Amino acid sequence: MKRIDILKKTNRIVIKIGSSILCDSKGGFSRDAVIGVCKEILFLLKEKKEVILVSSGAIACGMDMIHVTKRPKELPLLQACAAIGQGKLMKVYEDFFVKKKYHTAQILLTQDIFYDRGRYLNTRNTFNALLELGVLPIVNENDTVVTDEIRFGDNDRLSSAVAQITGADLLINLSNVGGMLDFQKKVISEIGSESELDSLKNMVFESKAEKTVGGMKSKLDAAKILMSSGIPMIIADGKDFSILRKIFDGKNIGTLFIPFKQKASFTKTWLIYSASPKGKLILDSGAFDAVQHKGKSLLSGGISALEGHFKAGDAVRVMNEKGYEFARGLTNYSREELDKIRGRKSAEIEGVLGYKFYDEVIHRDNLVLLKDRAGEHDH
Ligand code: GLU
Repeated sequence: MKRIDILKKTNRIVIKIGSSILCDSKGGFSRDAVIGVCKEILFLLKEKKEVILVSSGAIACGMDMIHVTKRPKELPLLQACAAIGQGKLMKVYEDFFVKKKYHTAQILLTQDIFYDRGRYLNTRNTFNALLELGVLPIVNENDTVVTDEIRFGDNDRLSSAVAQITGADLLINLSNVGGMLDFQKKVISEIGSESELDSLKNMVFESKAEKTVGGMKSKLDAAKILMSSGIPMIIADGKDFSILRKIFDGKNIGTLFIPFKQKASFTKTWLIYSASPKGKLILDSGAFDAVQHKGKSLLSGGISALEGHFKAGDAVRVMNEKGYEFARGLTNYSREELDKIRGRKSAEIEGVLGYKFYDEVIHRDNLVLLKDRAGEHDH
């Protein structure tokens, strides 16, 4: 797909702005830079695009307020900086947009919203409601309360998760570099395949900054996830305060990562990247072959063993006899029910349970093969 076609089709856009853009040349939080970015976003809102902003800068802003120059290593101080900075950051955005007759809405996320399907759906619905109201959602990690287990870690990962959860048409990652550079330090305008992307990883040099996290490697990881979920991404120079206009004018600017897969369904995306499965279904070799290679749903007859506790509707891991997890899906039956019907034909389910809601234990529409995940291959 060509850049121009991608841009023409783009309606819902996630824009990620890194702390390095929102800080001035001395590394201090720059209100002017935030305003520069706001003007660009206003242009997109006026074009009737749906915009979701993922803004870093809470920690940098908080550090500035209390005159801390190096990113704190102690967690309470770091989280205190985020708490101090987040409100100030939002105030700059809100003050700008309210004058232009737009509302902003703060959304602070932690990775655990993706562990549970109910919370995942809830988050998506909130985004949809805000966008329908014409409000600009402004997202950050909930740095103040986050612990290692539920941390995105950087806003490159957070923004790609937001693009997936909202089914965005494009993620624009505004950073302090003009895009991916080749060996001659020229911006590469397009990356169109997984292998091109992988070869770039060897060329990435990271410079350590005092106030920021992320970097080119995490941008490439985010790009890979998006390319395999059917969402294009552009890395471009956020220091240029007319960058979004240039991109939407069709200028060949920044690096465009073109998806190598179709956009995945919402359920499948959640199953691949976000689900925290509750149990395991171990299949015999015939069922493994039917599911892995023949596009079939999973039936009770092919299940040879079970592990863990799960209810109907939970996400479960689907394993082959060698213990390799090759798929995930939403089970139509609970552990207790499957204990009774595993190894039996679908026609026997009603006789054993006294009812039958579904022929399939996992319907194909609710099943995803993990080889479809970026970087995974057939076993
Ligand atoms: N969430 C952090 C903040 O607002 C920034 C993380 C990042 O820049 O990747 O300060």
